[in-house]
Amino acid sequence: MRAVGERLAQAVGDYILRDARVPRALLPTALRALADGQGLARVDLAVEGGRLRAIAPVGRLGAGAVLDLAGRQVWPSFHDLHTHLDKTHTLARAPNADGTLLGAVKAVMADHARWHAAELETRADFALRCAWAHGTAGLRTHVDAAGPQARMSWDVMQALRARWAGRIRLQMVAMAPMDTYLGAQAEAFVRRVAESGGVLGGVTRIPGLPPAAARQRLALALDALFGWAGRYGLDVDLHVDESCEPAADSLREVARAAQAKGVRGYVVCGHCCSLAVQPEAVREQALDLCLEAGLAIVSLPLVNLFLQDRSAGRTPRLRGLAPLHEIAGHGIPVALASDNCGDAFHAYGDYDPLEVLREGVRNGHLDGAAADWSASVTATPARLMRHPARGMLEEGGAADFIVFDARSMPELLARPQSDRIVVRGGRPLAESLPSFAELDCALAEAGHA
Ligand SMILES: [Zn+2]
Repeated sequence: MRAVGERLAQAVGDYILRDARVPRALLPTALRALADGQGLARVDLAVEGGRLRAIAPVGRLGAGAVLDLAGRQVWPSFHDLHTHLDKTHTLARAPNADGTLLGAVKAVMADHARWHAAELETRADFALRCAWAHGTAGLRTHVDAAGPQARMSWDVMQALRARWAGRIRLQMVAMAPMDTYLGAQAEAFVRRVAESGGVLGGVTRIPGLPPAAARQRLALALDALFGWAGRYGLDVDLHVDESCEPAADSLREVARAAQAKGVRGYVVCGHCCSLAVQPEAVREQALDLCLEAGLAIVSLPLVNLFLQDRSAGRTPRLRGLAPLHEIAGHGIPVALASDNCGDAFHAYGDYDPLEVLREGVRNGHLDGAAADWSASVTATPARLMRHPARGMLEEGGAADFIVFDARSMPELLARPQSDRIVVRGGRPLAESLPSFAELDCALAEAGHA
């Protein structure tokens, strides 16, 4: 693999990548029939002036410098649809006392007082450097939009978005309590989100009310939210039913409200764990409603495995994973994403969509169509983020891709692929993963170690 990297680094000007295997879902339609039983097609890729000039069946492109990949896989850049850059890398100072979702919420709420522009920017920038080194070109982050730190956090993310433009396309979701959309300040809030190019968000749960009253209030809040989304032309990304309780069924309320207000195509529902534990008929009906309403679902396997079905001294029996086969089987767009990394919600994670896909495949038994699930961390989230690069390999598109030392899907998923070669504009990245020690130093400098 080192030799491939060296040859790519030396490739001056235009070159041809010979014999690359690419998941068919990430190729132009005309080439998909080339795929083998695993869903991988063997192609040549011509790189010219930092763009993909041509993609053709293997052996068809010959002129110019040729770099033979001997069947190694090439994927387009990743898109990570659901993260929390504001909370990232706070674990050391704000650990989760009992490991549960509620424990995480409490730890982070208490940590809000420690959030300041310099340290937040340091943590989030470190996260983006990790994402960049792993091969990510688009990333959406939720940002806590309540509390005294809210305005500061949003401003920091806007500054980071500008600084990373051209490398990672950063999107922000204002993660507000649902009551925000009903309050007197609702329109001012929505306008601020719209003016800064954000997405409307929140958790579809009303705390502190009996179930019937909470349900009623949630319906009102969702009607208001989708009303604002329609009026201001905003996309929506909600945290939905992050629970292994079958009674958690706000997803159908989201579908109802989205459809009632005619907002469709770019409404994303994250988590949807409870779908996996509901009776089949209930789940099927909920998925029918999602399809009719044009919703998309993003599953967060790493965080759900970490938080769901947790209690002290007991081994979890449930996976917390949304029913991925069934969602995809309904024709509902489904993405996989990182969610929290290095905080009370998830002690691990490194903004590596390949790790997310690997765990999704292993825990969701997606191995039968693993190559097609490549779209869940590339093309599908890119479309939901309205990224012009589309998360695919396309003629005329930028020569942004990742080369893996793996010919088959089992080879790809057997290893972390730490030696992957990330190529942007036809050139391999010079940057590698930053050391955690760097983060410690930077946080100490920012005065918040
Ligand atoms: Zn989340």
